[in-house]
Amino acid sequence: MKLTICHLYPDLLDLYGDRGNILTLAARCRWRGIEPVIRQVSLGEDLDFKGMDILFLGGGSDREQGILVQDLMRREHELRLAIENGLVVLAICGGYQMLGSYYQTASGEKIPGLGILDLWTTAGTKRLIGNVVIELYGSTLFVGQDKAPSSQPEQTLKTLVGFENHSGKTQLGQGLKPLGKVLIGHGNNGEDQAEGVRYRNVFGTYLHGPLLPKNPLLTDLLLELALVRRGLDSRLTELDDRLENLAHEAMVARLLKQA
Ligand code: GLN
Repeated sequence: MKLTICHLYPDLLDLYGDRGNILTLAARCRWRGIEPVIRQVSLGEDLDFKGMDILFLGGGSDREQGILVQDLMRREHELRLAIENGLVVLAICGGYQMLGSYYQTASGEKIPGLGILDLWTTAGTKRLIGNVVIELYGSTLFVGQDKAPSSQPEQTLKTLVGFENHSGKTQLGQGLKPLGKVLIGHGNNGEDQAEGVRYRNVFGTYLHGPLLPKNPLLTDLLLELALVRRGLDSRLTELDDRLENLAHEAMVARLLKQA
């Protein structure tokens, strides 16, 4: 069994170790006998969304967002179709912003976005920086089946931990649900306690870190969704996540105590 994971613009969208998310997805595939096929696609290169299982868009500065926007826009139609068809997407910070209708920089320049998700971002006057803990909503964990995903034992903490560094403040349109509620940190805009977004199998978030090594719950959710979409058996072999969960829980405990 193979899963194809695509890192789009790896040379431009890769802040604060974002590439570690790809390594984590690949490792958790390999540990289960699933062969990860990793594709890196940058400006001007061909991209086949049809053969793809997971698309990864990392974070990038305003400058980098400006550089890639034209190339990204020419992929809009196909990406929109793929998303409606259940493509699993993880988009971090700058990549997350680009899925929305625009990003307005602090100098007032409006960088257009793909407009696939009903969200928009305006740079604030101060950067939103620091560690983040969010409590996940049940809707975030939905895999399209009645039962909870096999890789999520009852006792698993339903939180995500990560690190944010952005000036953009993102607002979600009415029909969109955030990934969760901010317990520590700023999240989408520092105002409404919302963090990230889930739309179909698209996960947008401000959390770097990299995000996935510290949050195996989310990593396995992405893998399960990719398998379900392909019509394959989505039950993932359980892994020994004691270290990962310890790292996660240590951060949650430390940050909540400091609050
Ligand atoms: N340029 C965006 C901002 O500062 C994204 C930054 C990022 O990806 N870390 O809001």
